[in-house]
Amino acid sequence: SKENHAPENHSHKNSLPVNKGVSVVSEAVCQEVMGRADAFTAVENVFSAMAKNTAYNFPVIREAIGHADALYGFKSGFDRDGMVLGLKSGGYWPGNVQKDLTNHQSTVILFDPDTGQLKSLVGGNYLTAVRTAASSAVSIAHLARKDSKVLGMVGAGHQSTFQLRAAVEQREFEKIVCWNFHPEQIPKLAAVAEELGLPFESVTREELCAQADVIITITSAFEALIDKDWIKPGTHIACMGTDTVGKQEVDAKLLAVAKVFTDELAQSITLGEAQHAIAQKLIQQSDIVPIGEVINGTKTGRTSAEDITLFDGTGVGLQDLAVASVAAELAEAKGQVTYFNL
Ligand code: NAD
Repeated sequence: SKENHAPENHSHKNSLPVNKGVSVVSEAVCQEVMGRADAFTAVENVFSAMAKNTAYNFPVIREAIGHADALYGFKSGFDRDGMVLGLKSGGYWPGNVQKDLTNHQSTVILFDPDTGQLKSLVGGNYLTAVRTAASSAVSIAHLARKDSKVLGMVGAGHQSTFQLRAAVEQREFEKIVCWNFHPEQIPKLAAVAEELGLPFESVTREELCAQADVIITITSAFEALIDKDWIKPGTHIACMGTDTVGKQEVDAKLLAVAKVFTDELAQSITLGEAQHAIAQKLIQQSDIVPIGEVINGTKTGRTSAEDITLFDGTGVGLQDLAVASVAAELAEAKGQVTYFNL
């Protein structure tokens, strides 16, 4: 529209695109334009591209900066299918709580793959939660039994509500069961279940495994919370919390009896849930299947109703770039970005 702040992309027919400058997409605008369905598609596509080797993640940089107890880093990559190049920068600032800010802070920076010019700055906090939820949702879509009825949530922190909302869109769940290390956090997740019209029960970990057909673990635990023997045949479990060396959510022995899938092999064996089973030689790298192979139909996923499937969702930079790129496009189309020139 004429009211749009953004200059027109093409001044007249057959002209070269006019460089509009760098677009800025705020956290608030990301929340407004980026829905779960778009995030699901973006993440599924990028996992597919990773398995075809048309998209790859560059080595991750993560450093303790020696100030404010902060962990700071970069996750970057290039998706040749989606033509998305860039990085997510940010990290973990534990003191932010006292400042009324979230501890995890991130910003996505997108570049034009044809010229290397800076294209967009996109708030990354909301998008991180959305893309992480989309990741477990993609795993449920491709690996969980179609007749899954009970969803088990291990964890009730910041990410958990996003995880719950995305997961329930993949199967006709009839009930949510939950366990959390900090019981006082559970009511917030219970409220989301109520909003979704689903019965919610707070249970022990063992009871959760006995009831659940699909389990999502999304905690910052450093030791196994789930015993191998508690998991019933046919369960799909998405391990989403372990994204760092030393973290762990499930019994390493579970990975030896489950069919194991991941977003990215390199991360799975070093900093994902599989790091422990690999270190203990319970499984080998060749036992782990990139989920993109299942999406592409080049490897099988679940082959029976008895299979235990386990998705090691480690979180890759390309997921961030994928959702940020879609968010920027949607925001630009709606005229909800501001532009500047360097
Ligand atoms: P949060 O701080 O809001 O919540 C932490 C959760 O872990 C809570 O449920 C808490 O009760 C639980 N917890 C804390 N200490 C525990 C312990 N010792 N034993 C068992 N549970 C414990 O964090 P969040 O933003 O919800 O993130 C949860 C986890 O997910 C973190 O480990 C985070 O690094 C990880 N994460 C992974 C991805 C990914 O792509 N895989 C993306 C974002 C976050």
